[in-house]
Amino acid sequence: MKQSQLFTKTQKQAPKDEVSLNAQLLLRAGFIDKEMAGVYSFLPLGLRTLNKIIEIIREEINAIGGQEILLTALQNPKIWKITGRWDDEVLDVWFKTKIKTGGEVGLGTTHEEPLVNLIKKHINSYKDLPKYVYQFQTKFRNEKRAKSGIMRLREFIMKDLYSFHANQEDLEVYYKKAQEAYLKIFNRLGLGDKTYMTYASGGTFSQYSHEFQTITSSGEDLIYVCDKCHIAVNKEIIKDLNHQCPECGNAKLHEEKAVEVGNIFKLMDKFSRALDLKYKDKEGKSKSVIMGCYGIGPQRVMGTITEIYNDNKGIIWPEAVAPFNVHLISLGKDEEAQKIYDDLLKNSIETLYDDRNVRAGEKFADSDLIGIPYRVVISGKSIDAGGVEFKKRNEIKSKIIPIKSLISKIKQS
Ligand code: ATP
Ligand code: MG
Repeated sequence: MKQSQLFTKTQKQAPKDEVSLNAQLLLRAGFIDKEMAGVYSFLPLGLRTLNKIIEIIREEINAIGGQEILLTALQNPKIWKITGRWDDEVLDVWFKTKIKTGGEVGLGTTHEEPLVNLIKKHINSYKDLPKYVYQFQTKFRNEKRAKSGIMRLREFIMKDLYSFHANQEDLEVYYKKAQEAYLKIFNRLGLGDKTYMTYASGGTFSQYSHEFQTITSSGEDLIYVCDKCHIAVNKEIIKDLNHQCPECGNAKLHEEKAVEVGNIFKLMDKFSRALDLKYKDKEGKSKSVIMGCYGIGPQRVMGTITEIYNDNKGIIWPEAVAPFNVHLISLGKDEEAQKIYDDLLKNSIETLYDDRNVRAGEKFADSDLIGIPYRVVISGKSIDAGGVEFKKRNEIKSKIIPIKSLISKIKQS
């Protein structure tokens, strides 16, 4: 894309009321726009990154059998009243409103109830199980605090996957698979080293649930990390475990601030029982379906990546989620730059080409702020030195490389 065509502008300073680093950087770089506290729009650069995160998650969930659907945001109170979650005062994060012709609706905070209600029409026998259904869908939660930028939103996309099984053994097998898929996802997102599968309370239905917690000073949670097992325990259950690793017994766990980027639960028959989701087993006996649920928030992931990968000049995107791979900058050499741009596109290398008529200093500052992994500068100086100036966003020094080896250099980097 040509930068002269990009409608967003960068800003030198973040708005004064923006306290979180991720929102400051993403606002300044033109990735997002703030509508109100906890509510942000995604602009062209931001949407490219968000879509890359979503696509990585989608690929890995498809790889474990997920079938994608899209449920509604507007929720019928009827089914939520059956499970008691419509009027749940303790957990109340609902945005509710009235329908003009009568009756209430709510904006979905999660989707167990409507999905169980839907899947009832399609599951009758053990032959229909297991099934895995997921979506990327907008959730609305009236969160009390919304000061963490896009890490805690009042309107956010969640990838929520739900699994349906004939028995607990089958759930356990799939639950393990989902854990592995989650670790793959966070590895591919560039968060592998800092993300820990974290033992958390299982609620009323099972001994543990698992959170995926990424270490960052901006996190709102505390976790206790076992370096030997690369797992952690969250604060609510650390006492129950006597401050020991549940896997190896290690008592030398260290406390870290972290953010919950994902969460997986064994729901067992909690919702299927309440909403009467049953199947007939081989003997024709009626049984409750056993369920698991698995969430990830792509915007929270994007905020977390921004919090971790930055320096005093801007964002430093991991390649897998960068809005573009190459930032091509022309300093008065537009004809040569255009040729390089065409060549990059021909080789399917996603490129933002800064063809604007602005000072070099401004182009460099914007490039550092936006944080594209590779910067390629073409100028009179670079041509005299033998080609283009090539620099990785996370390195200080640039080097001159011949134009004809640029493509192979990027492909092997
Ligand atoms: P938290 O404890 O941080 O409020 P949660 O436990 O309520 O999160 P879940 O219901 O488990 O969240 O949601 C699944 C995933 O959705 C979370 O792991 C997170 O990635 C994402 N998520 C949850 N709440 C938000 C939010 N307010 N803004 C952005 N993403 C969110
Ligand atoms: Mg959670």
